[in-house]
Parts: sequence; structure tokens; C-alpha cells
Amino acid sequence: MNFKDYIRVIPDYPNPGIRFKDITTLINNGPVYAAAIDALKQAVADKQIDLIAGPEARGFIVGAPLAVALGVGFVPIRKSGKLPGEVVEASYDLEYGSDKLAIHKDAIKPGQRILIADDLLATGGTIATTINLIRQLGGEVVGAAFLIELGYLDGRTKLDGIVPFSLVTY
Ligand code: AMP
Repeated sequence: MNFKDYIRVIPDYPNPGIRFKDITTLINNGPVYAAAIDALKQAVADKQIDLIAGPEARGFIVGAPLAVALGVGFVPIRKSGKLPGEVVEASYDLEYGSDKLAIHKDAIKPGQRILIADDLLATGGTIATTINLIRQLGGEVVGAAFLIELGYLDGRTKLDGIVPFSLVTY
């Protein structure tokens, strides 16, 4: 299946010059959404994953069904202030300003094997921060899976040794 046929590209959103990869058109189609999750599942099947971690919000759209398909649990990584329990947090720089992500302290036990899932790998800033949070809790990051990778932004070189898998690359 050519998944690119189901991803809508919207020019100049949210800023001039950005070509936004809109996955709502892919997940709107049940069989295509299921095929995409199944393809990610096949790609990571040999990794002996204990848990999937996905960053808010589109990481939930990819990570939660992938976790169910693999029969493992899901750990939400959220923006600062959204998780109710004790958290660890890490800041990262955006194009303008910075943002902070958080994870529940008890979500991962030392030595657990964690796969990160998200919709799209761009600069890699979000995933580098997610890797940092998981490692702070003693988790072992065993991979990262994406629907989409923007190859021209070179995010895969910023993942501190983790080699990502992406369904489609632009
Ligand atoms: P990054 O931290 O730069 O790797 O990207 C963070 C998030 O921004 C990605 O997971 C996407 O949800 C979103 N994003 C960045 N660039 C695009 C794009 N061109 N189209 C759609 N989403 C994007």
C-alpha cells in the first residue's frame, strides 16, 4: 500500500513555507489506518518491547493502537502540567521559545525495553527529549517508529544512537 496517497499535504500551514503533512486523511480510512499500524508492528516485532511511549498528541494516535496490536502497555508523554501524578520533566528548544515534556515517574521500571512512537519525525527535538525522559527513569529505548519522516531535516541524526523506522519519507 502506498501510504503517501492517504497523507494530505497542506502548504503554508501553520507558517509560510511549511508543508504540513496531515495524517487525519489517513486515519479517517479504517483499513488504511489498520494497515499502517500493522506495518509498524511488523517492523518492530523482533525488538522484545515491554512498553510503547508516545508524545502528546499525535503520538497517541500511532502509539496506542500499536501498543494494543503488540499486546503491551502505553505510556503517555505529555506537555508539562497535564499529568496528575509525580513526574520528571525535560525542556527542549523550539524554533521560537521552548517547551517542556513530562512523564509519570512510576510509568517505567528500570531495565524495561521501550519503543517510542509518533506521527512524524521532523527536527528530532521532541523525540530526543522523549529519549531523555525514558532514560532518566532507567528505561532502555530500543527503537522509534513513525508514520512519516522528513528526511531533509535530518532528525534521525539527533536521536542519540537510536535508529528510527519510518513508513514513508519525504
Ligand atoms: P520535531 O520535534 O521537530 O521532530 O517535530 C515535532 C512534531 O511536530 C512532530 O511529531 C509533528 O507532530 C509536528 N510536525 C513538525 N513538522 C511537521 C510537518 N511538516 N507536518 C506535520 N507535522 C509536523
